Amino acid sequence: MQTLNEIRSNFLTYFGDKGHTVVPSSPLVPRNDPTLMFTAAGMVQFKNLFTGVETRDYTRATTAQKCVRAGGKHNDLDNVGYTARHHTFFEMLGNFSFGDYFKEDAIPMAWDLLTKVFGIDASRLIVTVYHTDDEAVAIWKKHAGLSDDRIIRIATDDNFWSAGPTGPCGPCTEIFYDHGDHIWGGPPGSPEEDGDRFVEIWNLVFMQYEQFEDGTRRDLPNKSIDTGMGIERVAALLQGTNDNYSTDLMRSLIEASANATSSDPDGPGKTHHRVIADHLRSTSFLMADGVMPSNDGRGYVLRRIMRRAMRHAHLLGAKDPLMHRLVPALVAQMGQAYPELGQAQSMIQQTLLQEETRFRQTLDRGLKLLDEELVMLPEGGELAGATAFKLYDTFGFPLDLTQDALREKGRTVDTDGFTSAMAEQKAKARAAWSGSGEAADATIWFDVADKAGVTEFLGYDTETAEGKI
Ligand code: ATP
Ligand code: MG
Ligand code: MG
Ligand code: MG
Repeated sequence: MQTLNEIRSNFLTYFGDKGHTVVPSSPLVPRNDPTLMFTAAGMVQFKNLFTGVETRDYTRATTAQKCVRAGGKHNDLDNVGYTARHHTFFEMLGNFSFGDYFKEDAIPMAWDLLTKVFGIDASRLIVTVYHTDDEAVAIWKKHAGLSDDRIIRIATDDNFWSAGPTGPCGPCTEIFYDHGDHIWGGPPGSPEEDGDRFVEIWNLVFMQYEQFEDGTRRDLPNKSIDTGMGIERVAALLQGTNDNYSTDLMRSLIEASANATSSDPDGPGKTHHRVIADHLRSTSFLMADGVMPSNDGRGYVLRRIMRRAMRHAHLLGAKDPLMHRLVPALVAQMGQAYPELGQAQSMIQQTLLQEETRFRQTLDRGLKLLDEELVMLPEGGELAGATAFKLYDTFGFPLDLTQDALREKGRTVDTDGFTSAMAEQKAKARAAWSGSGEAADATIWFDVADKAGVTEFLGYDTETAEGKI
């Protein structure tokens, strides 16, 4: 069996042998790129190479890139715990061509790696292409011998990839693995595609255009390649499962969570362990890259992920802060590939301990309040916005944490009510200040506060170039 760490090095060696420079992962916070909240794909650090603004001494690169999809255009936070294939933090394996090779080489290289090097059963693979991309169809037929029914033409954005609202983009072809009809789900483009039977493993993007703010596009100076394969997904299939959380690395984190809470990793608390394992990775890696919990922007996304994990720890019956105790297990698994993790270990543990200690002071009471409210809710009724706001304001429950708690019970929150409760409180605070004889100062303070986003809510609701966080 190939471990996840072995798969990473096998991938980099394969492309290294084909003339690609092995480039280290870039940080999770993109440098000088206000269009992105976090690095969500391997291409992010190479944007300027695609657009021709920058050149380096290589035209082929390969990476294992740290990615977080918990905010902005790519956000999988709500999928964690619900699908077998999504994480908030994952590693994307990629190969890149900057005006070097194009489709006719990218497709064969990917196919050969999967079927010849990794030994994946070719009859289980199907692909999608952008609906007008006859070239890609022809290459798939010629090189992989795929029949028409295994090449699905897709007209949506799923096969036209971009990292954000602006920048390099292009049509793509994606490789899916069919885990078998014992698992629910349909092929891409079908109504059941959200299931876990057909799992997308690799996206090959044919970088061809640059998109601008006004929606116009120009041709890139050179046709380029950007690919991304989720390492946890390919590890799952190489380890004989369709479930990312059953792979060696994720499993060891789940076991750490189970041991620390003296509970069964596969028992009724199974989902809690999965969420904790996932959130342990995203929060630790974000802190290792310099993001600290705060009340706005990236720091608030971090705090939200932490608090979600902490609620799950609480539901497992953890009597004391849990998350910081799991960090050594993560460092044992990933510290070698990502030395920054070990370097930041004690800071990560201290921060998690401090955050969990603080949140636990109100978590229990907040959950009690939520339970009481739920008992009184009529069938099909939404949780009142005012209650969600009280949970937020008094107990430190980010709105999405409340929503996560309710989703397990098939309930939702009146989010409009939440927003107006928030607005009402702000108005009251403003009025109280202006009645205090310090009106001029107060106005200035509130203006600054509004602009800087100093309250937790502003943090949650901050608009980025990519839309709401
Ligand atoms: P999906 O449709 O399953 O959400 P995606 O189309 O959003 O995936 P891409 O943007 O094409 O994914 O990213 C390239 C690859 O990265 C995917 O083919 C997949 O292997 C992996 N990947 C994407 N999102 C995640 C995630 N949240 N967790 C783990 N792997 C992921
Ligand atoms: Mg996705
Ligand atoms: Mg997809
Ligand atoms: Mg995709």
